[in-house]
Order: sequence, then structure tokens, then C-alpha cells
Amino acid sequence: MPLVVQKFGGTSVADSQKILAAARKAVRAQQEGNQVVMVVSAMGKNTDVLVDLAHQISDHPPAREMDMLLSTGEQVSVALMAMAIDSLGCRAISFTGAQIGIKTDSTHTKARIHSISAARMRQALDEGKIVIAAGFQGIDEDSNITTLGRGGSDTTAVALAAALEADACEIYTDVDGVYTTDPRALPEARMVRQVSYDEMLELASLGAGVMHSRSIEFAKKFSVPIHVRSSFSDRPGTMITALPESPGQPVSGATLVKNEARVAILGVPDRPGSSLAIFSKIAARNISVDMIVQNVGDHAKADISFTVLRDDLVSTLEAVQEAAAELGAEGVSHDDKVSKISVVGLGMATQTGVAQTMFRALAEAGVNIQMITTSEIKISVLVDRDQAQNALRVVHRAFELEKEPRAAAAQSADATRLPGPKVARDEAAIVARLSGMEDLTIDDMMLDDTQARVTIGGVPDAPGMAASVFEGIAAAGIFVDMIVQSLGRAGHANLSFTVPQAALQRAVATATELAGQFGCGPVTNSPRVAKLSVSGIGMRSHTGVAIRMFRALSEAGINVAMINTSEVRVNVVVDGAAGQKGLACLQAAFADAQR
Ligand code: ADP
Ligand code: ASP
Ligand code: MG
Repeated sequence: MPLVVQKFGGTSVADSQKILAAARKAVRAQQEGNQVVMVVSAMGKNTDVLVDLAHQISDHPPAREMDMLLSTGEQVSVALMAMAIDSLGCRAISFTGAQIGIKTDSTHTKARIHSISAARMRQALDEGKIVIAAGFQGIDEDSNITTLGRGGSDTTAVALAAALEADACEIYTDVDGVYTTDPRALPEARMVRQVSYDEMLELASLGAGVMHSRSIEFAKKFSVPIHVRSSFSDRPGTMITALPESPGQPVSGATLVKNEARVAILGVPDRPGSSLAIFSKIAARNISVDMIVQNVGDHAKADISFTVLRDDLVSTLEAVQEAAAELGAEGVSHDDKVSKISVVGLGMATQTGVAQTMFRALAEAGVNIQMITTSEIKISVLVDRDQAQNALRVVHRAFELEKEPRAAAAQSADATRLPGPKVARDEAAIVARLSGMEDLTIDDMMLDDTQARVTIGGVPDAPGMAASVFEGIAAAGIFVDMIVQSLGRAGHANLSFTVPQAALQRAVATATELAGQFGCGPVTNSPRVAKLSVSGIGMRSHTGVAIRMFRALSEAGINVAMINTSEVRVNVVVDGAAGQKGLACLQAAFADAQR
């Protein structure tokens, strides 16, 4: 019998009427011939209320007790949901995370799932019951209650769908599906019919709060198709699968993270181990670093910039001051009034001109870009917070995201189901794949030593610079891969990018001409650089990935010139001659995590 997992978020179970409406959806799915597992969140804003209560009692509530407290929200919902189903004349049973055997590590308030034992759920399903699982919670080895991080019920749902090999995983929420950007931030946002795992992973981690990013990691790892849809209607929503909505489209979504802070460590001695020293001190304080931008500096000194959430700024600065003193850096600067705007799209990996379209739109709106970081499928820029809303609007418009894409991918009539007949269940294989569910998985380690680097120093920190540079480079017919911009000393930015080696001379000539026009410089280059990439699943939530990479390279005496991170990949640029050696040491460093 087909099995469906249905997850209902906080607003979808905010009061008794909504709980009954959700219960009716589950009953209907059962009457249509499915086994049904529901995953429910705490009612309405209940989790926020609990967090607030804890902070009224203590500035630093113990994490274990926080989990004890927060898990009660979901426990209320599952019990009420079971009563609702019973009142509709059907059989149901509610379970806490512990009762369904969601085993996690002991990182309270952001625990990772180790395994799920499906046996008890299966038994209840086989008895004809609707299973109602509490979202967002589990237990560790010592039976302590843990939670998975805010928004984590999505992850419970997708993990259960993977564990039970569900035929469908439906995420019911308060919007109709996944939009090109948050429809509450931008009314002209358009609902997309389909979005790929990789795009959704980036979008979720870059600010699209509609899905918990770790749930998408699961979905990708275990090939679970997700259907995000409205609790309040029967309209089909958005499918998150392996395929994008329209393969040719360069950009499929845009995001905004409002409250970021930028930190720059200036004049860091350009030698192996510097990044490691900085980021391991930050990681030791359990702070996750977001955009990391290391740029080629002047006189054998590098500037390393990164962003953190504004709330983490104070402890970040403590860590950074310490590291800066140890390294003999020239100084530290920060800005806590910045926001991050990103665009994401699988199509940009193969198309030129995406970056300059974004930069030009921002320039025309008078928005200054402080930092830039790109990956194969995303471009992020840091802007002044006062300009962020307008920046999101102009970027969304520049890519015509409000319009239906021309060549939308054909969707099968029943795309919400896994295709094809299922093979007989092999319990041993299922159990095997459940152990270490959230372990880091490295798909690929790559060396690209076909590129060269160009850096323009002393770029005035004013709107329009990046747009002009990349329009000039594109007009010369040159494909740009990585772009990194950081704000350096005296309000000047360094703008670096990589191009194919054969195009270096033309790129340098164009850059020099533009630098002359804008009165900036110098333009420097490396004719042969090596880009080393580690890609996989769990790259960002396993915060140690970048650090492990820096450590491996540092131990091999390899200096990092540029860094670029994304949700699915960390890229570093090193000297061309060190490429092979760098690849070998990364392979050794990540041997345990390779698929
Ligand atoms: P739930 O309680 O159902 O988990 P959330 O509040 O976590 O709901 O997520 C739904 C919200 O996500 C929407 O109300 C919307 O404002 C926000 N959101 C942010 N980005 C997007 C996006 N790209 N598409 C749809 N919704 C988005
Ligand atoms: N109730 C939890 C939260 O508000 C989990 C969730 O809703 O996904 O973060
Ligand atoms: Mg949510």
C-alpha cells in the first residue's frame, strides 16, 4: 500500500479548527488507499513563546533544558491531532520523537539525526492507524530529549519519508508553494511549479525560510520528492525534485537575509594557515560563518572578510581580535548594518552575463555592493540594510522572476509520486542506510587548473563598479567563473575573478583599461591558478568542512589565495603549481566522508 508523509507547520495547526482541517486531509489520504504518517509542529507561535519564557528566566538557559521545554510544543500538537482524527471516526496514534526512535547526537538545540527505527510506526500503520509524529525532536544515546533546530519539523518529515521509503512527502504550510522570493517580502513573487534539490538547498540556506535546509539535504541524499503546498486549499504546490523548473533559466529564485554583520580582517600575512587560525577560533565558539571571502591583497597581505548573523557579532569579534593579534594582522573592521541578497539558479553554471545583470540592476538603483561571492549556482552580494528591500526588488525584476519561464519543464500528471514500481523492501539495506543519516557526504573533489586570476585593487566603494567591470569582460567574450569582492582598507574594494587561461591577456587588458577609466588599480594577475573544490551534502551544517580543508592545505604548506563557499561546495584557489598536491591532500582529509 502506498505511504504518504504529511507535515503540517505551526500556522497550519494554530487552532482547533485548523487541527481538524489538517486531520481531514490525513483521513482523506487514508481513504484514498494510503498509509499515512503525519508530522506536526507546535501550534502557531508556541515555540517562540517558549523561547521567550526561557529568556525571561535566564540569559543563558542550559541547552538541555531548552530542548526539554521546546519539545513540549510539538507534544501538545500530536495529542490534539490524534484526538481530532479519533473524533472523525478513524484510528490514530501519536508519538514523541523518542517513541518513534529518532536517535540524534547530543548537540542540544541543533541535534543531527543518527538513525530512525521504523518498526513501531510500521506496526501502527499495518494496524490501520494514522501515525502522528512530533516534529523537530529526538533523543540522544542517554535518552535526553533533543531538538533539531528552528524549523526542524521539515527535517523530521523528510527523514521519516526516507526511513519509511514513502511514496510522497507533502509539506503543508501557509503559502501555496515555493515562490521566486518570499511573497511576504515581495508581492510580485511567483510560485514555481518545480525546483531542484540543489537550488532549494541554496535558497533555503540563503534565507528562503519556507523549508529547513537540512530537510533538503535529506531529500537529495535519499531521493525523496517533496511537495510543498497550502494547508488551506487543495491546489498543487511546488515539487522539489532532482530537476529544475526550466533548465535554460539562469536564475530561479532570489533571497534576502536582513540581519547580517560583516567582519574584515585586514592585512593578514599571506601564508599557509592564516584562514585556519581565524575560522577555527570562530568555530570553537559555535558560531556559523556565512559568506567567506578571502581576496588577494597587496604586498603579500590578504584581507579576509566574512559575514555572521548580527546576533553573533559580539562573540565573533572577540574570536577575531584574538586571531588577528596572533597572526599580526593590520586590523579588524566590522559593519552590523548589512543584508545579503542572493540569486540562485542551475542555469547560471553554463551561462554568461548573470553576474553583470545583477550588478547592473543594483547600480541603476544606486545600491553599493560591499562584498561579492559566487558559486556555480549562486551569486551573493552584501548591501547596506537600508537599501536591502529595494535591492531585492530590482534584482527580482532584472531576472524577470515574476514571469513564467519560457521553457518550463514538463511535469507528469502525477509528479508527486515516485516513478516506477518499487523493489521489494530489503530491511537490512534500509537499516544500513539509516545509520549516520545526517553524516557529511562528499560527492566529489575536483581540481580545475585551467584558469587564471585577475585582481583589480583600490576599486572605489561606489555603485556601478562591478557592473562596469563584468560588462566589459563579457563584451570581450570572456567567461568568468569565480568572483570575489571584499572591502579592504580606506574604503576601497578588491575585486578578483577567474577566467580561462587562454583569455587572461584579454581580461587583463580590459581590466587595465577600466581601472584607468575609474582611476583605480593596480591590476594584478596569476597566469595559472588551481581551483580546488569539495562538493557534497552537509557542507554548511557540518561547519568543520571549510576548516578541515584549510587545515589539510595548511599542513601541506599550500597557501590559499581566494575562498568561495556555498551550501553544496567549498572552493579555494591556490597557486597553479600546487594543484595536484592540494587535491591529494584533500582526498586524504575527506577519505572518511566519501560516498
Ligand atoms: P511552517 O510553520 O508551515 O513551517 P514557515 O513559516 O516555516 O511555515 O514557512 C512558510 C513561510 O516562509 C511563508 O509564510 C513565507 O513568508 C516564508 N518564505 C520565505 N521565503 C519563501 C519562498 N521563497 N517561498 C515561499 N515562502 C517563503
Ligand atoms: N516548532 C519548531 C519551530 O518553531 C519546529 C518547526 O515548526 O518546524 O521552530
Ligand atoms: Mg517551517
